[in-house]
Amino acid sequence: MLMTDSIRQQFPILERMVKGKPLVYLDNAATSQKPQVVIDALTDYYSRYNANIHRGIHTLAEEATMAYEATRATVKDFIGAETTEEIIFTRGTTEGINLVAYTWGRKHINAGDEIIISGMEHHSNIVPWQILCQEKQALLKVIPVNDAGAFALEDFTALLSPRTKLVSIVQVSNALGTVNPVKEMIAAAHQAGALVLVDGAQSAVHLDINVQDLDCDFFAFSGHKVYGPTGIGVLYGKKDLLEEMPVFQGGGEMIKEVSFEQTTFNELPYKYEAGTPNIADTIALKAALDYISSIGKPAIRAHENELLEYATAQLENIPGLRIIGKAAHKVSLVSFVIDGVHPQDAAIILDNLGIAVRTGHHCTQPLMKRFGIPGTIRASFALYNTKAEVDALVTGILKTIKMLS
Ligand code: PLP
Repeated sequence: MLMTDSIRQQFPILERMVKGKPLVYLDNAATSQKPQVVIDALTDYYSRYNANIHRGIHTLAEEATMAYEATRATVKDFIGAETTEEIIFTRGTTEGINLVAYTWGRKHINAGDEIIISGMEHHSNIVPWQILCQEKQALLKVIPVNDAGAFALEDFTALLSPRTKLVSIVQVSNALGTVNPVKEMIAAAHQAGALVLVDGAQSAVHLDINVQDLDCDFFAFSGHKVYGPTGIGVLYGKKDLLEEMPVFQGGGEMIKEVSFEQTTFNELPYKYEAGTPNIADTIALKAALDYISSIGKPAIRAHENELLEYATAQLENIPGLRIIGKAAHKVSLVSFVIDGVHPQDAAIILDNLGIAVRTGHHCTQPLMKRFGIPGTIRASFALYNTKAEVDALVTGILKTIKMLS
């Protein structure tokens, strides 16, 4: 059991009033709120040891470098990587996926090759592959999503062929909450000779991640969805792949030696980190990951699942409300539509009650099309949410239906 009262005290924003009502923050899948330890890590860096990293010999530069690299070690443990060389700092999941598309993809994808994604991908795991496929005359194949918002493993394996070079798959759907069987998919893809990238934007905060156990080739996630700052993310890649891939951006830090005739590139992971990185947010990411580990993902997950079950049971009883996404294995969020209620109108009414939910297509337009809807209302839960907040949501929804019908 989580002690939500004491946990809530660690998140200063949760004391906020919105439109005269206590904030009920249920938009955690978009971004989570930040505990005081993360906010403190940011101010501590800027007020005590702000300096550029890696090149300086002075005390501040050394302290900043040590803190920056300490985050890399923490990330390595957080996702079970083998070495810190496999941890590349990015701006977020989107940049991590694009990095793979622009480097590995441009080198290895040729005309007639195939890339497989699923029908529930976020735009950031569709568009980079679409651009690549168009450029290379390759084929983008899509695993169909069923009415429950999941897909059968056989529907995936049926798409694998000797031309499949890459499978890029979301581990947890941001629009439905579905947990995909990525471990089994990775094994099947490897057997077919394809690599696998896992979009961990939604999974990293809820599930225990061990990239070695999964055996994925790439894994991307964002700091801001794991109680950390915006503007910092992680791309994990297997060392041998990262070593042979071409560089991403050129500039300082990623080089070994530069002359006008030729440049040699730095070792991993710096090869992919051109320019001054996002030092402050990287340092604060460690505070966020340590915070999660100090509570423990199993306890957090148990709490969030309880909220999910509680919310689902109540919402299902509301006449005219239909839950989109009823997969057997789900985490943390519930998406729904209501007869005669436009999601946007519902969001405005709920906001007036201090309740923050997300409405719209959730950057999954093809998935919304699959369900024949323009969008959903999505409530997503974090470790600080409570059953009282779920009650507030349900009351708010009932009020919305009354006002709009
Ligand atoms: N993939 C999924 C499943 C997401 O939910 C998101 C963000 O909502 C992303 C990718 C993109 O993450 P970011 O915007 O942090 O790069």
